[in-house]
Amino acid sequence: MIELRDKVARGLAEAERKRYSPEQIDKLREAHRQLCARIDGVEPCRHPRAVPVDQAITGDTIAYLCPDCDTQLPEGFKPSDT
Ligand SMILES: [Zn+2]
Repeated sequence: MIELRDKVARGLAEAERKRYSPEQIDKLREAHRQLCARIDGVEPCRHPRAVPVDQAITGDTIAYLCPDCDTQLPEGFKPSDT
């Protein structure tokens, strides 16, 4: 299981080096994060306390930031208390 984590981490580094599309890198990142969480015996973070990040000029919410796992979430993310 630890070996698998190293493999995914290496794949992620290589994807960034080879300039894969952001979607592919995001998928790899997510896979790596979930794998780490499983190895550590922790459920993947559901970002229950994600806070909106507002664009300074327009005040529009452009992203969310989860203080628990320090992950930036896409604009379409819907925070939930569950
Ligand atoms: Zn989170």
